[in-house]
Amino acid sequence: MNAPKIGESRTAASDLEATKPKIGDSRPAPAQSASAVSKPSSNGSRSGADSSDGHSSAGNSSGRSGSGGRRRRRRGGRGRGSTNRAVRPVEHLVSDAPVKLDEKTLERRRGRRRKGRPVGRYTMLVQVRSGATQIAVLEGRALIEHHISRPADDISQIHGNIYMGQVQNVLPGMEAAFVDIGTPKNAVLYRGDLVLDPEDTDTSNGTPRIENLLEPRQTILCQVAKNPIAHKGARLTQEVSLPGRFVVLVPNSPTHGISKRLADRERKRLRKVLDRCKPEEHGIIVRTAAEKITAEELERDVRRLVKQWEQIEALSKRARVPSLLYREPDMAVRVVREEFNQDFRSVLIDDERLYDEIHDYVSSVAPELLERLEYYDAENEHLSLLERHHVHEQFIKALDRKVWLPGGGSLIIENTEALTVIDVNTGKNVGNHSLEETVFRNNLEAAIEIPRQLRLRDIGGIIVIDFVDMEKRANREEVIKAFRESLSRDKTRTQVLEISELGLVEMTRKRIGEGLLESSSVQCEHCEGRGLVLDSELVRSTRGG
Ligand SMILES: [Zn+2]
Repeated sequence: MNAPKIGESRTAASDLEATKPKIGDSRPAPAQSASAVSKPSSNGSRSGADSSDGHSSAGNSSGRSGSGGRRRRRRGGRGRGSTNRAVRPVEHLVSDAPVKLDEKTLERRRGRRRKGRPVGRYTMLVQVRSGATQIAVLEGRALIEHHISRPADDISQIHGNIYMGQVQNVLPGMEAAFVDIGTPKNAVLYRGDLVLDPEDTDTSNGTPRIENLLEPRQTILCQVAKNPIAHKGARLTQEVSLPGRFVVLVPNSPTHGISKRLADRERKRLRKVLDRCKPEEHGIIVRTAAEKITAEELERDVRRLVKQWEQIEALSKRARVPSLLYREPDMAVRVVREEFNQDFRSVLIDDERLYDEIHDYVSSVAPELLERLEYYDAENEHLSLLERHHVHEQFIKALDRKVWLPGGGSLIIENTEALTVIDVNTGKNVGNHSLEETVFRNNLEAAIEIPRQLRLRDIGGIIVIDFVDMEKRANREEVIKAFRESLSRDKTRTQVLEISELGLVEMTRKRIGEGLLESSSVQCEHCEGRGLVLDSELVRSTRGG
């Protein structure tokens, strides 16, 4: 690794020279972000800091060398817990006064119970270690989701964070600008994600072009809409939104809406509440979780978010540029905010500090769920939380290329940088049915298993699936129907395209994390992840020996 060190005074240009791949080059691919952030070393250099090269060739090529020194300094010692920053970012408000609900409301909301204990299909396990926090969601005993977050994820897990950034350069041909937000890689802001001030922009000649809207060195407030992945920097948006438990606040926007997943009557009721408490200058979107909540609860959520926004705005006026203004909470808090409801039998947390924090949060937004929240004392139990629930075995399986189907067939799941390929295979044992029937049954099993695997493995981006060829059109349609149905249970947004001429199903799944495989492993250092041992005989330069 040739990561630049603190104080090293290479110019941006030579930096670029050193990291830019050349034709015929056989240097290893840049380190994955997971490995890069997992070991912030003490001398300030960061292994894998050169993983920005793909991006910097576009983003920093016109960077002024004067900014080099500052940039280096910032690179070192970042991350959660670094205290030498001038301003501290606003944190998600998790501790608020507990909401007071009358006993009747509480009782009604507590949901189904059996033998005095709450019931639900799911269990959430949160295991905290100094190197990583793991969150596992089980359905019954089966692992269906597994997230990993690391303390140094201020570089790669920044989705939702808000920054005061500085425009580095504007690329009219890409209708985009590169923005320095203080992370090693510049972030990108596309023309379509800019928010125009109608009083300030001249629209007489149609939509203004990005080069007329932004200029180098300009400072802008922006939010990360997509985490950086591999060689790509984070994607930014100027339309800021702050998610709460029941509503999303969209500051300085006329946006308003109520989740379409709610029934008409409920939407009408919530609209009335919203009319009373919506701040004039901001937009509000009411989430599905707002179903049946009281007016006061909704108002409190709005108030919390408005307060948060005011803090962010105030900070933006005195923060140096670039800087982090608002940081999304720990992954555990986020998952609880987004997912925890009566469908969860329990949420177990093995860390006292995090338990207290989540306890505070839940008592302020959903006190009826408090009885489902439990502290797991691993020392007393003599088994780690994940071991107790047999997560490890299932976790290892979730990293395998091969997944068996109940009828003897299998899936092969291959990750590449651009997309994920899933190959469906039939088993050797074809049984008594006709071949078409065997293939059809096998494909049906795959159609149900694949969405499960996508969720468990946290696979996002473009996915291509090669089902086994079927003769009958009706069978093909049936398989796709089953597939779409199974996908609809996934809360993450997915889109399935028609079957291509070669019989491939193309789909996309919104990228949330970087993927289970990526967040839990580093590339093999011997073969650089290719998984092959080269026959050295073939490339030896001298005979014999
Ligand atoms: Zn290897």
